[in-house]
Amino acid sequence: MYKYPQSILNLINSFASLPGVGNKTAERYAFYVLNNLNIEDIDEFVTNLKNVKENIKHCKICGNLSEDDICDICKDSKRDHSIVMVVENERDVLSLEKLDEYKGVYHILGGAITFSKGISAADLNIDSLINRVKEGQIKEIILATNATLEGETTARYLKELLNDYEIKISRIAYGLPVGQDLVYADQMTLLKALEGRREYK
Ligand SMILES: [Zn+2]
Repeated sequence: MYKYPQSILNLINSFASLPGVGNKTAERYAFYVLNNLNIEDIDEFVTNLKNVKENIKHCKICGNLSEDDICDICKDSKRDHSIVMVVENERDVLSLEKLDEYKGVYHILGGAITFSKGISAADLNIDSLINRVKEGQIKEIILATNATLEGETTARYLKELLNDYEIKISRIAYGLPVGQDLVYADQMTLLKALEGRREYK
């Protein structure tokens, strides 16, 4: 049976390994590379792929993505560093920042407690949050984990953990449909959720 030359097959396999890319699409991408891209385009593509692995690290304070040890948000002296919004993922930060409403800082957990996948509190970026609180500068923590079972479980866990400290703890997620990830919420819903935060008991 006829097969494409090996180099084309390899490239198709690489594209097909990406999430949401089936074989047909992978094949289309491979032929696009072959027919439409010059070697400079390809070099740039490869460099971008490498750079994202080599240059991106997690901020030492909040866990956000950064090219430096400390991210731009933590570095920003105009922001209110006494309010910390706790989110599951880096992409949540972008969604919230688009609102241009929140002026505090963040803490990125890197996921949520998910028993079915064996993700426990120990796997999340929680110790560094507690250390931040212990430093005594934080007045309010906004728990902005997703309105899912996992997000709610995580918020509950954090609430218990933070009860020992003299800080206000509030919970976003009002106006957010239950079961929805923050990333997929429209801006108005997200804004309402942020404004409507209330003390978490
Ligand atoms: Zn940071």
